[in-house]
Amino acid sequence: MSPFPRSTVLGYPRIGPRRELKRALESYWDGRSSRAELDQAGAELRERTWRRLAELGLEGLPSNTFSLYDQVLDTAVLLGAVPSRYRDAADPYFAMARGTEGLAPLRMTKWFDTNYHYIVPEIGPDTVFKLDAAKPLAEVREARALGYETRPVVVGPVTFLLLGSALDRLDDVLGCYEELLSALAAEGVEWVQLDEPALVGDRTPDELAALKSAYDRLGGLGTRPGLFVASYFGDLGTALPVLAGTPVEAIGVDLVRGGVPVIDLSGKTVVAGVVSGRDVWRTAPERALAALAAVPADDVVVSTSCSLLHVPYDVAAEPALDPALRGRLAFAEQKVAEVVALARTGFHGSAPAGPSVALPAPVVPESRSPYALRAAAQAGHLRLPTLPITTIGSFPQTGELRAARAAVSAGTLSQDGYERQVEAEIERAIRVQERLGLDVLVHGEPERNDMVQYFAEHLDGFAVTANGWVQSYGSRCTRPPILHGDVSRPAPITVRWAGYAQSLTDKPVKGMLTGPVTIVAWSFVRDDLPLRDVVFQVADAVRDEVRDLEAAGVSIIQVDEPALRELLPLRRAAQEDYLEWAVAAYRRATSGAGDRTQIHTHLCYSDADQILAAIDGLDADVTTIESARSGARILGAVETFGRGLGPGVYDIHSPRVPGAAEVEDLLRRTLAALPAERVWVNPDCGLKTRTYEQVEASLANVVTATRKLRAEL
Ligand code: GLN
Ligand code: ZN
Repeated sequence: MSPFPRSTVLGYPRIGPRRELKRALESYWDGRSSRAELDQAGAELRERTWRRLAELGLEGLPSNTFSLYDQVLDTAVLLGAVPSRYRDAADPYFAMARGTEGLAPLRMTKWFDTNYHYIVPEIGPDTVFKLDAAKPLAEVREARALGYETRPVVVGPVTFLLLGSALDRLDDVLGCYEELLSALAAEGVEWVQLDEPALVGDRTPDELAALKSAYDRLGGLGTRPGLFVASYFGDLGTALPVLAGTPVEAIGVDLVRGGVPVIDLSGKTVVAGVVSGRDVWRTAPERALAALAAVPADDVVVSTSCSLLHVPYDVAAEPALDPALRGRLAFAEQKVAEVVALARTGFHGSAPAGPSVALPAPVVPESRSPYALRAAAQAGHLRLPTLPITTIGSFPQTGELRAARAAVSAGTLSQDGYERQVEAEIERAIRVQERLGLDVLVHGEPERNDMVQYFAEHLDGFAVTANGWVQSYGSRCTRPPILHGDVSRPAPITVRWAGYAQSLTDKPVKGMLTGPVTIVAWSFVRDDLPLRDVVFQVADAVRDEVRDLEAAGVSIIQVDEPALRELLPLRRAAQEDYLEWAVAAYRRATSGAGDRTQIHTHLCYSDADQILAAIDGLDADVTTIESARSGARILGAVETFGRGLGPGVYDIHSPRVPGAAEVEDLLRRTLAALPAERVWVNPDCGLKTRTYEQVEASLANVVTATRKLRAEL
């Protein structure tokens, strides 16, 4: 087998620099184009990527990192793990990804600690694994026809099975991987990359034993390509010596998030991820060169810390950014150039000292009065009925509003004209809520394009991009803001809209803010300060806004923290520290509120087991949380929370209108678990993806059910 190329990347963005894939997918899904046209769009994107990587001077080009939807779903198809109910669908791949008439899609969840979502493999005892290597083989041939030799990338057997909770099927699946390796060898492929990010989490001795047996077996295969096992998103820890003890030729380590290996790796190729695939910053060359020189192996290859899937394409597409900031940025194209430059530098034997590490600032505990005092003050002030009915914040976002925002950017609509349109939307939402008989109203968030971007646009220290799209799932992309400097709030942000909404009604209107952890989690964040210090800066900005809302007469303020769990470190040992400062930051943001002001928080998920104590620690007066969608599983867990609780009474993710009896049933279950005086009635999440028609019908049934139960109390 030939030596591993001197420079590589673990993967590349695939949505297209102008989101070409998004457009091609949506056109195909809407029936406006054929499958052949979709495949053609994919082929063009792959060609463009290989050409660009080669032009930039990269030696090791990956293939099979392109996907029409998701690389984990591609691996399921590769291994034949297609549940039988999808096999007869017109297009089984997209039926699994998105569902089809009468057939729900497979479950989707977040890829480790990123904001990318993968399709969870569904593996049962009756799953028959059977190799279908068409896609990786076709990509190898396609690249070869263009003059490029590539390294196919596939999710490895251990990670694939752990994602599908089926590690007991290892033996069966390894048969397919063996066949795949043979087929690739027959095709003349020199190296294959098996991605095993699951190895950077805590793994049990049994799982490590499975890892060893998997790679002993694949390594023992007679004719096969070189095996490159890639890890990323953290340190391999105890998995490293296990992997090093198998016959695999190359091991990929993340030297941005993980430490330089301390065990002797001579005899192996170490693919050293020194250019971060998780941020948008230029690499400090001294730091990268020091890490490369410190790797205890004679064969070290320069690479990215993970796939570049998680960063935008090209800084050159952002001419409007402040030049000083632009000079600090590296997106995918720039990161490839860095990898190439580092590989050409020749880093052996010249290790300058590593950078000094800043010490974290101490967390200042912050608290409001005891809950009993607050609750009494709020009850006297707000005079709410039992089982108060509210919503999570957003009302339907209309196409006209999105068009109006675009028109403001294009200069065809005045700021004044836009603001009048926002006011009209607020009034519409307020009147609907009054008519339905809700108790705590919201302004509906019509002025927000996105719950994080909106705040980023109004805070100093953030920049927003024009084309910095990153794939979230399928055709969906987000444009994360860039937090590049010290954060502060030059002027109140939401006060005017909240105040306007309150001026329209006698019912209390809830102010609506995004919490500091979520703002940071959904942004690209500066790396010259500890994350917690950055989160505290944002917390102080939110705190200013809370105080101004209160001063403007807003007596209920919701601070959403849906990403609290997302930043949870992958390893248990680091989780406690994170949760401690994350909770402290939230309390800092909200503890400026007086006793009479009621603080709400909202979390979008219910499988919150690991962070329940932290949610309780937020000390919000009212916590609204998903419940309906997950069959009220949350009730047992939150029973001990001593404050207000709003387990959602219906799932907003589907257009279906819940019947009053259904809502009543969920409410009865809630009341069986929690004392009535603590229960709030609300949907699972915000309503922005629904239509007014659905929202009005659903909420009317919620009111009917609630009134019936109130009468029984
Ligand atoms: N207040 C936000 C909304 O209603 C909350 C969104 C979320 O939980 N992700 O849309
Ligand atoms: Zn939510």
